[in-house]
Amino acid sequence: MENNLDVAITSEEILKQNNEEISSSKSKTNYDKNNYLDVSLKEGEKTKSVRIRLLPFSTNGGTPFKKIKMHSLKQQDGKWKFYVCPNQTGLEGIERSKCPFCELSKNSYDLAEKETDEVKKKYYKDIAFNNMAKDYWMVRCIDRADEEYGPKFWRFSSSAKKHDGVYDKMINLFKIRAEEDKDFNIFSLKDGKDMIVTITRGEDNKKTVTITDAGKVTPLSNDMEKAESWVKDPKGWSDVFGGAKSFEYLLIAVSGKTPIFDKAEGKWKPMLSKEEFEAKKAEQAAAQSDEVPDLTGKIDNTASISYAPQDANIPCGNITSTKSTPYQMIMEGSTEKQNDDVAPIGEADGLPF
Ligand SMILES: [Zn+2]
Repeated sequence: MENNLDVAITSEEILKQNNEEISSSKSKTNYDKNNYLDVSLKEGEKTKSVRIRLLPFSTNGGTPFKKIKMHSLKQQDGKWKFYVCPNQTGLEGIERSKCPFCELSKNSYDLAEKETDEVKKKYYKDIAFNNMAKDYWMVRCIDRADEEYGPKFWRFSSSAKKHDGVYDKMINLFKIRAEEDKDFNIFSLKDGKDMIVTITRGEDNKKTVTITDAGKVTPLSNDMEKAESWVKDPKGWSDVFGGAKSFEYLLIAVSGKTPIFDKAEGKWKPMLSKEEFEAKKAEQAAAQSDEVPDLTGKIDNTASISYAPQDANIPCGNITSTKSTPYQMIMEGSTEKQNDDVAPIGEADGLPF
């Protein structure tokens, strides 16, 4: 037999698959609030200052800043959830992949472009904007009030248009200090400066962040071993914020649902809302009461409800809501009523059209 098969097992494919495996297992981020720099203000607290020292974002050195693209979606409980865009954020060793948020945004934009009716045009434009990936910056830093914990992460939105975001303020300081002395680098680990981050709540409850630099030039630490262990700390941003998720996961998220992994079926499923869960239970109870009594005594009344494997209190299942989300409407051509909770737009009755 000739040794010229036109199929092969390639190292490339094996490594690519392995990288995907690594990234999907990373989705089980262990939440530890100490991993995040605490810049929140407690109820009634008007202002606070946090003193930090920036670390190079990569363990190999370089800049302290890392930019990523994220989608954000307001949940039904009013809280925001953030999703790394797998299409626009380059992740080491992982190919960029399709993103349902980006698809929805692009399709809505195309519809808006073609639309002549101003109300409909605005409706599509809003969906396009709400689902567009936005820029966020991340830094890795040492919280001087909690050095023992080691590196913490801080993520803040980019203010590229207004140039008044946290990133801009830090870069401005870097430039101003370099103007005074061209050899001075405010971010230097050896002879740079700490940053003082001050968060203030205004009369309108809006928070503002001010950045100033410390008065004195200091090293990251006088203890070289400690400084090196901070710089080389292997904890990455995706361990803390969660990395890019699979298309299947995001397909559930884009509909405003919380994805949970169903081990039995080996796939992501949407977590049921309390109402949906109650409705499903009632439906099953009703179906069961119609059944001929099972004389074997082995009625399984939970057979068609699947649960999250780790926590039996989290029910999941197929989306049972009769309302369509913008994704279903625009991407799948559903004509059912729009889910107002997910897209707070389109005040005119009868939308979508
Ligand atoms: Zn995206």
